[in-house]
Order: sequence, then C-alpha cells, then structure tokens
Amino acid sequence: MKKNKKLGINTTCVHVGEVKDEQFKGAVSPIYMSTSYAFDNVDVKRYPRYYNTPNQEMLHKKIAALEKTEDALVFTSGMAAISSALMAFLQKGDHVIVQQVIYGGTYNFIVSEFDKYGIEYSFTESDKVDDFKSLIKENTKILYIETPSNPLLGITDMQAISSLAKEHDILTMIDNTFASPINQNPVDFGIDIVLHSATKYMGGHSDISAGAIAASKNHIEKIWQTAINFGGNLSDQTVWLLERSLKTLNLRVTAQTKNAQTMAEYLEQSNDIDTVYYPGLKSHPQYALAKKQMKGFGAMLSFELEEGINPMIFQNNLQLIKPSMSLAGLESTTVSPTQTTHALLSEKERLERGIKEGLIRFSVGIEEPEDLIEDIEQAIKKAKH
Ligand SMILES: *Cc1c(COP(=O)(O)O)cnc(C)c1O
Repeated sequence: MKKNKKLGINTTCVHVGEVKDEQFKGAVSPIYMSTSYAFDNVDVKRYPRYYNTPNQEMLHKKIAALEKTEDALVFTSGMAAISSALMAFLQKGDHVIVQQVIYGGTYNFIVSEFDKYGIEYSFTESDKVDDFKSLIKENTKILYIETPSNPLLGITDMQAISSLAKEHDILTMIDNTFASPINQNPVDFGIDIVLHSATKYMGGHSDISAGAIAASKNHIEKIWQTAINFGGNLSDQTVWLLERSLKTLNLRVTAQTKNAQTMAEYLEQSNDIDTVYYPGLKSHPQYALAKKQMKGFGAMLSFELEEGINPMIFQNNLQLIKPSMSLAGLESTTVSPTQTTHALLSEKERLERGIKEGLIRFSVGIEEPEDLIEDIEQAIKKAKH
C-alpha cells in the first residue's frame, strides 16, 4: 500500500490496525492472550495493564485513524475511559466546567468523587457557549461537553467551545458516543480529547463492554500515566471482538443513520406523536449547527407520545423494538427516561429538563423502517385510552 495515501472509511475500518498473522497468513488478527512477554532484546515491556499487548496496540491504531488523532487507548468501559481522562488532568484545587446535560454515569462520577479530591466543578445551565464562558475561573482546567446530548439531542457548538478554551489555555473533552467517529470527528473543530463508550456504536452488537480515548500523542501519554494506575485495561479477547465489530462500523452506523432520518420524518408527521427531537430534522432548533459539524445526524432520536397514549403500555406492546436501558445496537431499542434514567428526579425537575411523561428515546437499528413503523403503529393502537 502507498504511504500517506488517505484511505477510504470502510478500508480504514477493515484494515487499519490489523495484527498480521505472519506464521499462517490467516485472514483475521490472531489473539495474543499472553500476560507475560520476554523483555530480552525487546524495547517495550509488554503487559496488559500497560495497554501495549499486540492486540491492544493495533486497536489503538484503528481508533486513532477513525477519530483522525495521533493515538488512542482502549478501556474496559466508557466510564473507565472517561474517569481516567478526567483524573489524568485534574488535581486538588482545579476547576472543571461541565455541560448541564451529560450521560448520567459521568454526572454521578463528578458529583460523587470530585469533592473527595478537592476538585471544583460547575454545571452550565444550557449547552450555549456563553454559559461556559461565564463560568470560567482562574483555576478552570477543563471544559467538558457531550453532543448530541441525551435524551433531547441538543447540539453544542464544538468550534466555539474549543476557541473559547484555547483563549484561556483550557483543555476540551467531548463524549462522542452518540455520534460515533462515523458521524462526527471533534478534532476537526479543535477539541482536544475524544471519549467513547465503545459499548455503544463501536461495539454495536450489544455484547461488548469497552471504552476509548482518542487524542494527540502527548495527551495520550499523560492519560496513560494515570490509566496504568487505575487499571481499566480491556482484556485481549474483548479487544479482538471490538476489532471485529469496528470492521463494520461505517456500514452499520450509516445504515442506522439513514433509518433514523426516515423514522424521524415518519414520526414528525404522525398524529399520535407530539414533538420529535432529531438533529436531522429542519424543525430541530440547532439543525444548521448540526449540519455544519456532523457528517451524518446519527441514529438516536426522541419523541413525545400524544397525551392519552400510555408510554408504558406502548413500550410493553412493541414486538420488534425492544425496551432497553442501553443503545446503539443493530437492533432498535426504546427507553422511557421518566421511568428509567431520570426516575429519581421529581416531575418538576424532569420538566425543567424538558423531559415529559410521554418522552421515548429511540435508538434506531438496521431493521427496515417499514417494519419499525408497523410495530410502532400497532403498539400505539393498544396504548390509546
Ligand atoms: C453508555 C454511555 C457512557 C458510559 O459507557 P459504559 O461503557 O457504560 O461505561 C458514556 N457516555 C455515553 C453518552 C453513553 O451512552
């Protein structure tokens, strides 16, 4: 292969970061399960928790290529990646500004751990850049964002956030799980550190728990120093499975994104549905911004059932689409934020966050939209009082 030639996205998914089978010339990467490697005549001391087994190193290359960064690291979960990234750059007395609407696990990590270490944090009141700006203090070290966000698919302006941060010499981190590297590459807009729950689109088959960080060599080196102490390294067996999943990342996410657009348009014109939240709809308040910074609008959307349609009865009567806490698999799933992710909040707190009783978050899979529409229609019929 020619050096420096820019590879196509599917070629990158399939080939970058293969472990070559020199001995037998097998078609797929062999798995090196060793936890012990000789260091005679070898520069590197290989060890799983050093994040440098042959399979780990090669997967780092694939993920870095997908996010257009110099380097990457894989972890045992999204939270292992997120917590290692944050703790690598923070110490007592530092301050972090966090977007108001972020993944619940990240929110819990910040509010339950940071006080113990004397790290200050502020949550913004919205995803607007001015909100971040007004919270900057002398000791602010990180701006942390998530776009599109969960469950209302809000869009944060990555370019504006990274410019603001650079002016003040602050680091930027993004949770890029919802978009996946197929629909959004945050480094194109100057974001420093890109985080993923690889349990979601990267894994894509609802059978892998993993996380990833993509960033410059320097930033990855710094995160590595902390990561080897926390020990959130992914087992080589799962590294191998994740490599296999990533080969179809573009095929899967592109198909899911296309289906999501079809489903969003269908839901928007349905008389049984109130508001639909999807960045690919012209009615989305940040449609123009999403169009500017996303390559595709993603496969997550939310919609509100009209009053008089019981959300639990609706979900219990779905036959193809599975009610599920997780998301981003090949199969379509729904979740009612009121009953699950936001169940601990009062109704008033939920409404302040724009989460109504009938809100359904919809992770669109690869099934034919006709089948999904039929499923939704029959479930709505049963859920009407
Ligand atoms: C699931 C998820 C995470 C956490 O990932 P785990 O693999 O469950 O640790 C973080 N961010 C987002 C947006 C997620 O959906």
